[in-house]
Amino acid sequence: MTARSSEVKVYVRTRPTACFAQELIEYLPDEQTVNVRHRRDSRKGVMNNQMSSWSFRLDGVLHNMSQEDVYQSVAHSVVLGALEGYNGTIMCFGQTGAGKTYTMTGATESYKQRGIIPRALQEVFHEVEQRVDHTFSVLLSFLEIYNETLVDLLASIKTGRAVQSGALTVVEEPGGGVSVKGLSLHPVHNEEEALNLLFEGEMNRIIGEHALNKNSSRSHCIFTIHIESRSRTLSGASYVTSKLNLVDLAGSERLSKTGSEGQVQREAMYINRSLSFLEQAIIALADRRREHVPFRQSKLTHALKDSLGGNCNTVLVANIYGEAAQIEETLSTLRFAARMKCVRTEPSINEHVDPALQVRRLHKEIQLLKQELSIHDTLANRAGAAYESLSETQVAEVQSQVQRYLAGTLDEITIVSVRQIQEVFTQFKKAVHEQEQKVKEQLSQKYSLVEKTENIMSSPVKGEEPVGAVGEVEVGFGLGLAVPSQRHTRPQSPNKSKGRKSKESSRMLHEPQVQQRALL
Ligand code: ADP
Ligand code: MG
Repeated sequence: MTARSSEVKVYVRTRPTACFAQELIEYLPDEQTVNVRHRRDSRKGVMNNQMSSWSFRLDGVLHNMSQEDVYQSVAHSVVLGALEGYNGTIMCFGQTGAGKTYTMTGATESYKQRGIIPRALQEVFHEVEQRVDHTFSVLLSFLEIYNETLVDLLASIKTGRAVQSGALTVVEEPGGGVSVKGLSLHPVHNEEEALNLLFEGEMNRIIGEHALNKNSSRSHCIFTIHIESRSRTLSGASYVTSKLNLVDLAGSERLSKTGSEGQVQREAMYINRSLSFLEQAIIALADRRREHVPFRQSKLTHALKDSLGGNCNTVLVANIYGEAAQIEETLSTLRFAARMKCVRTEPSINEHVDPALQVRRLHKEIQLLKQELSIHDTLANRAGAAYESLSETQVAEVQSQVQRYLAGTLDEITIVSVRQIQEVFTQFKKAVHEQEQKVKEQLSQKYSLVEKTENIMSSPVKGEEPVGAVGEVEVGFGLGLAVPSQRHTRPQSPNKSKGRKSKESSRMLHEPQVQQRALL
């Protein structure tokens, strides 16, 4: 399947607030452009009232939009792509409190406010039910990256495929993909089972938060729906797989702003580092001249290696908190979004061939072909019953070919059908007979002269066989039997005719001797 190049889709979503900074953030009616005005150099504390403005053009502005509409704009086509075999990644990026988790998971207490993950699971299982010509298997994994450590949020659940104990590691796969070694994968058969795992994972995240005194906004979460599908109608050994990564990134606020100490500072440092590595990877991906992209610098970029700029439909939601106090974070989030928009991806269907199934399929095909061949053989043997006999023109053509072949003007006769082969033989037989006739007639003309002479010279005694006869031929000729053309008309039993034939052919061999003897 050929890859089609496409840009990462980028949307901006604002968290609703009573004090939206209208004078600083402007959404244009095209629903794609955000203009931001900000006092220059305010960070350095320099009093400067000069305003600068920036304009960001994205794929869509999701302002005052319901969860359902956000899902339709952002996720629907990526989810459908995943069912077709395209990898997909939907990421939420932004400062803490901007609405990343609300967008990705939603408000758990309200069905209407559920986010992209539960809606994606609902759509996946709805499609699986609809697409009766395919069999699907759906598996889930839930990974958290906290302070450069990988945590399996579903490790406590027993339904998962057996995984090795020990630290989780990101491993490169043949073909450029990555996977997390040791991460548990959980088969799910319906929406309810899948939602239970999502909530279980969320719960483990909160438990870990209390136990380790960590803050959920300081960790990155990757919820992955792994899909495998096979066609029921095509008996081929090929199948397609895809990964749909739903990523809730840690808060992107800057360290300087948090002003924190101790563990919080260390967390913030890790977050800042991994997010700045994410930014570096994105800058490298967006620059088409750069051959090396530093994915391995952090666990996050390494784990997302094939989701950011590779074989993937990638969507970024930049969550902003539209209050005046947050304008710097808003600006930095929008800059990140604009860079991400320059990244190109090459999504292609992940098609695989199952070798064992392929061998079985080929074996079956050989059996079928053998059967087909034996049917052909049978038909060929019963050619008279199975096919139309040759037309007069076809017979004439075969006859002409045989004559040209015998004359040496045709090198070979191409075999076309069993009927034609039979006709070629018939024509050969005819040619041989004609030749035989000719020779015999010529000979009999000569011998009738000899015979007359012999009759005059020595008439045999009536009723006696001639002495010294070498065979019937010599006897016949010696006795002056009818010429061969006349003898052929004599009715023969089938058995006799067979014997006759061999005698006739032996006569062909012996006739020169006869001639010699007769002439003596
Ligand atoms: P983040 O994950 O980015 O830190 P949250 O998703 O936790 O932020 O959002 C912070 C708060 O704002 C939550 O109480 C959430 O319900 C609310 N919120 C965020 N975005 C929206 C929105 N679009 N509509 C309604 N409430 C929202
Ligand atoms: Mg959050």
